[in-house]
Amino acid sequence: MSEVVSPGEGERALQDPPDDDGGPPARRRPPAVERLLGHGTASSWVVQHGRIALTGAIRAVLDEIRAGAEPVPDDAEIVARAAARLDAAARPSLRQVFNLTGTVLHTNLGRAILPEEAVVAVAAAMTGATNLEFDLASGERGERDSHVEALICRLTGAEAALVVNNNAAAVLLVLDALALRREVIVSRGELVEIGGSFRVPDVMARAGCRLREVGTTNRTHLADYADAIGPRTGLVMKVHPSNYEIRGFASQPPEAELHRLCIARGVPLASDLGSGSLIDLAAYGLPPEPTVRQALAYCDLVTFSGDKLLGGVQCGLVVGRADLVAKARRNPLKRALRVDKMTYAALEAVLRLYEHPEQLRRRLPTLRLLTRPRDEIEAQARRLLPEVARRLQGRAEVALSSCASQIGSGALPIDTLPSACLTLRRPASDGTRRGGGAWLKRLGADLRALPVPIIGRVAHDALQLDLRTLEDEAGFLASLDALAC
Ligand SMILES: *Cc1c(COP(=O)(O)O)cnc(C)c1O
Repeated sequence: MSEVVSPGEGERALQDPPDDDGGPPARRRPPAVERLLGHGTASSWVVQHGRIALTGAIRAVLDEIRAGAEPVPDDAEIVARAAARLDAAARPSLRQVFNLTGTVLHTNLGRAILPEEAVVAVAAAMTGATNLEFDLASGERGERDSHVEALICRLTGAEAALVVNNNAAAVLLVLDALALRREVIVSRGELVEIGGSFRVPDVMARAGCRLREVGTTNRTHLADYADAIGPRTGLVMKVHPSNYEIRGFASQPPEAELHRLCIARGVPLASDLGSGSLIDLAAYGLPPEPTVRQALAYCDLVTFSGDKLLGGVQCGLVVGRADLVAKARRNPLKRALRVDKMTYAALEAVLRLYEHPEQLRRRLPTLRLLTRPRDEIEAQARRLLPEVARRLQGRAEVALSSCASQIGSGALPIDTLPSACLTLRRPASDGTRRGGGAWLKRLGADLRALPVPIIGRVAHDALQLDLRTLEDEAGFLASLDALAC
């Protein structure tokens, strides 16, 4: 701490005579870097970030001040701004946030939150060598999918299973392995776009398949499929509409009939489920979704995501008939799309939770959050209301309201889950002439700038914080505390 200088230094700086060349406006010349480095508040930043880094940050702030027309702040303020720059630069880019958007599986916010069991398993896999592709019984080379294949088969009734980077990769692999340079038959009502970057027709083209659309947007009949199947057909594919629903005069042939047709014509039938639940969500009071086991009853291969309703890590699963899965595994793309040991570690831990269905709701965060009763969320909102109001005093009016959470990630877009939120509104006393929109934008930005950013949702001229997904109340309030600073 030899670099600590007397606090008097900074004070002296404040007393520097202003530059006064007689003409307005009087603007103090920015102080020298050396003097700022000697400021009383600088020493602890030197210890934390190093003298070179602090010097660079001070120079950057001084440049900023020279470039802008702003009055030159005092030395303490300049040092504080430099320190804030260093702090910001030292913060990891990928960070935890509070997802209070009301969308439980929010793709932009990382989808499923993993259970503790997965965290432990990943840490173990990362910090030592593993038997990733090594068969401990024989001492010979092993197969990485072996760590989860039997588990997946038990949970879904599949004959075989493999894992790739995500569900888009699973679809790509299935198309390439089973229908390269051949036709893939898809109903016009199922040509889905998911999140802009995954469009069924585009994936087909990249996989080197020819898309053969059948039926119309609202109705596709068994005869449409029957007419289209021919010598060039590689695959018939069903795609879960995920983020939309066609209602009214709409129909698709019963899956069992379509499967019978495919068997009779010797063409495999694949189903891209998207979310693909392993359990009957209706049993938990949630809107029903076809389970992977149900889908396998009427098709040969199913593809689904590991981090949507399954509640695990980002990956894509291909499950179904052993000969078809084997074909996909032999495809060179499998090597390019394969996943890391961390993914297997996390996925295995999550799948094992499914072997204890009676504890699943408690132990699997996705299911726990999706099934939180509205009463419980409202009680939490009541409890937090005064705490949040106190921290936002003078900045926002806080109230409790009802809202609707979404499952997210394309699962069940129509059905919502009743929830409760804290609603932040511009206070009547807000004297600024800022419009409500600008006020909301500013508040949203301030909440995103917190130590653990808080992400809400703008609705009805207010910023809503849906509490369905808030488990760490203490951390949430601690982060809000920083608003006062
Ligand atoms: C979400 C989804 C995908 C893409 O899955 P990722 O895991 O995001 O790659 C593909 N198909 C359907 C039907 C989906 O819902």
